[in-house]
Amino acid sequence: MRVRTFFPILLFALPALLSTQTPVKPHPSPMKSKTPNAAAVHQSAIVIDTHADTAQRFLDEHFDLADPLGSGNLNLESIHQGNLGAEFFSIWVEPTLYKGQYSHRTLELIDAVKQQAAKHPDQVEFVTSLEGIEQAHRAHKFAALIGIEGGHSIEDSLALLRQYYALGVRYMTLTWSNSNNWADSSGDIDDASIPHTAEGLTEFGKDVVYEMNRLGMMVDISHVSDRTFYRTLVISRAPVIASHSAARALCNAPRNMTDDMLRAVARSGGPNSKGGVVQVNFYSGFLSQSYRDAQKAQEPEMKKAVQDLKDKYKAEGKELTYAEIDEVQRQFANRIPRPPFSVLIDHIDHIAKVAGVDHVGLGSDFDGVSGQLPEGLDSPADFPKITAALMARGYSAEDCRKILGGNLLRVFREVQQVSKELQAEDRPRITEKQPANKPQYQSYSESAFRSVNLSAQTQALSKTSTLPAPSRSNPRSCPRKRTRAPRKAGSHRRFPHPHAAQSPEPPPPAPNLPSAAATPLQRPAHAAPVQPR
Ligand SMILES: [Zn+2]
Repeated sequence: MRVRTFFPILLFALPALLSTQTPVKPHPSPMKSKTPNAAAVHQSAIVIDTHADTAQRFLDEHFDLADPLGSGNLNLESIHQGNLGAEFFSIWVEPTLYKGQYSHRTLELIDAVKQQAAKHPDQVEFVTSLEGIEQAHRAHKFAALIGIEGGHSIEDSLALLRQYYALGVRYMTLTWSNSNNWADSSGDIDDASIPHTAEGLTEFGKDVVYEMNRLGMMVDISHVSDRTFYRTLVISRAPVIASHSAARALCNAPRNMTDDMLRAVARSGGPNSKGGVVQVNFYSGFLSQSYRDAQKAQEPEMKKAVQDLKDKYKAEGKELTYAEIDEVQRQFANRIPRPPFSVLIDHIDHIAKVAGVDHVGLGSDFDGVSGQLPEGLDSPADFPKITAALMARGYSAEDCRKILGGNLLRVFREVQQVSKELQAEDRPRITEKQPANKPQYQSYSESAFRSVNLSAQTQALSKTSTLPAPSRSNPRSCPRKRTRAPRKAGSHRRFPHPHAAQSPEPPPPAPNLPSAAATPLQRPAHAAPVQPR
């Protein structure tokens, strides 16, 4: 009632009010002049976190979501306190401990997450889609999803990738800290003893990305090397996510993303894409430079302690779990003072300014960082503080809801849509297995793929990497290609798959595109840097 009588008066008085005021604020808006309550804004959002390593606790420690937190970061009580709507539980297989058993361990971790949903059906729902998250939210339930962290879990097999999708996996981080046989990791890219690809992805690696696009599995570029990052963005038909990554401009970790990479994620996907999202990692060692420097100083001592423990267990014939390694790391971490809460907000704010407020979200890495989190940030119960801090910096209620989960939902929707489109196309013949001898360089022409599928911005993006220019196809450098009869591009498929198009001619010179780093973003809505009010 009050609104109805007040509104015409407001409309009548508004022009006069505006004309008599000096233009102090650039965007005076009667709807936004009344600052909404941060707690109410937080409660109104579907809050989504894209990375928690709690699955190991479920499996190795028999931790139940109904238990007290203990040394961990995530349980039902904190989920409810912080209005966490959906969590992507990370299915992460430690590559050294579980060598030879990657798929076995992957399946056990997936099952461990599903068991939690089965144990708490009144509070937890295992879901596999955007609609599932929304449906669980309406039913006041916590949505549990799964993402695989580390492409080594597929053991070089698209069959395993498809079966993981069938089990509900909805993103895959192409690598963890270890390079695998088809993609390179930022974790070992400087280690000359590890074989790496020449282009960031092998031919099979490109087929993995294609198959993920086709299935509707989000492509996660957290952890990958810079070269793998750029190569993936040229190939992927769907926008990509970084499930748990921070900004390199604020903390110089190789695992963090440069400003150019942040902008590139915002432009990822096809020409009509609204772009991907960077979900900010809460790990102190990625957020605070001074914390990171202190860590580096104690690193040799800590590595030795972990190695000693591994040797001891090996000598005794016992199995070492991640939790036991984690305990050693915690003891060292506790010697360094925690950075202030504001460092997390600095990263969110930086990414929103560089890539746009439509391209940032939350990827906590809870239960995966040995408790090394900023002050006052220990569980989802602390999430409302993020909303309050963002609003204190001038972010609107709508901006906050995007950051808290809306952006991830938008990307998930688009990934599902791209999957439908690809499944309606003729399916190209793709490699099912990574060849046993890892090819070090495979040249191919991307020209046909680029001309048909990629926007000018994405083409420019590919030029920002330091990749070698596509060169003439050389069958001798590519044993697998000898078994494949050359095809004319587009002879029987509507979508010329990037590495199916074998041109006998050298590719045409790349169009003279400006560097993405130097070019202002051209997509208006989602690419515009936010102006905190
Ligand atoms: Zn990780």
